[in-house]
Amino acid sequence: MIWPNEISGASAQRTVDAHAFLTLEHSGFDTITQWQQQRQIALLEWLIKQVPWWRDRLGTGIDILRWHELPILSRLELRKMVALQGAASVPAEHGTITSMPPNAMQTAASRGFYLSEFAQRLISHAYYADHQRQGRNPYATHACIADDVPLHDGDHVIIPPSQIHGCGVQALRNLDLFSKAQHIKWLSHHKPSYLTVQPDWFEVALVHAFARSDALPEIRQILSYGATATDSLRRKARQWLGATVRHRYSCPECGPLAFQCPRSDAYLHVAVGNALLEVVEESGQVKPPATSTESPSTGRILVTALHQYATPLIRYDTGDTGALHAGCPGCGLDVPALSVLRQNV
Ligand SMILES: [Zn+2]
Repeated sequence: MIWPNEISGASAQRTVDAHAFLTLEHSGFDTITQWQQQRQIALLEWLIKQVPWWRDRLGTGIDILRWHELPILSRLELRKMVALQGAASVPAEHGTITSMPPNAMQTAASRGFYLSEFAQRLISHAYYADHQRQGRNPYATHACIADDVPLHDGDHVIIPPSQIHGCGVQALRNLDLFSKAQHIKWLSHHKPSYLTVQPDWFEVALVHAFARSDALPEIRQILSYGATATDSLRRKARQWLGATVRHRYSCPECGPLAFQCPRSDAYLHVAVGNALLEVVEESGQVKPPATSTESPSTGRILVTALHQYATPLIRYDTGDTGALHAGCPGCGLDVPALSVLRQNV
């Protein structure tokens, strides 16, 4: 550590980005909308000038006020676009482009996509900002059990703590290398403060362990992603592990889309610094913001990735459904919020 004489550029950038994400989230609906429109216009102007297949798709006479008339992008169209056209050119300041996940482009029926250095930085720092939103100590031990952790020898892979990346020890474990009972035993032994995990298999693993009277791990927060975090998992986590579940709604091509409200299990704050979310009817008609909190009206979720130029996503149909509120009923913050989220993974 060389501070106070110097601070590493990466560390300063992470702090600034995380602060900017949280400031934007707290800046009120009008400021958020205005900022997002600037990003939308910059993205459209770039695509029309520099990316021929997107120019053909969008046409040239686009009016930001008629955003809702832009075509909806289906998963199939996106896959075709990536397979046929590869990466789109990106502004020079976005840096180099990487295929994601690594090596995905060599496989048939690829579900790969491309990300610039710039987009990767913002995705990573948007996730980092969530530590502050949820009151986590980023230097506490963090475990992750996932099927996309690269295959490894031994029980886990340890990533040492890093002041540059602002994190403590991370223990990564491939989901498919061990049985559910082995995962629970490993967690009980290592006692991580936080656990990143897909909620569906983890709930099954907990139920089995509880039925066998196995020792259960103490965990502070479970960071769930992928499938929907159910109320029954939240109850079990609270009663059996002393943990709260903090869901992160994301998609691989865009990164975080919404983070659970820190004060309510029922709502998620849209990740407004990273993505624009719309909710539409089956017909594609945009739904007005939900007003009811009892039974809000749901629809299909469309995503526009505000910094993703290498594989652009504009009005991308995720296949997920939910209700969009103009403000968060869970904590009163004036930020777009989702409820009744159903992820169809
Ligand atoms: Zn909230």
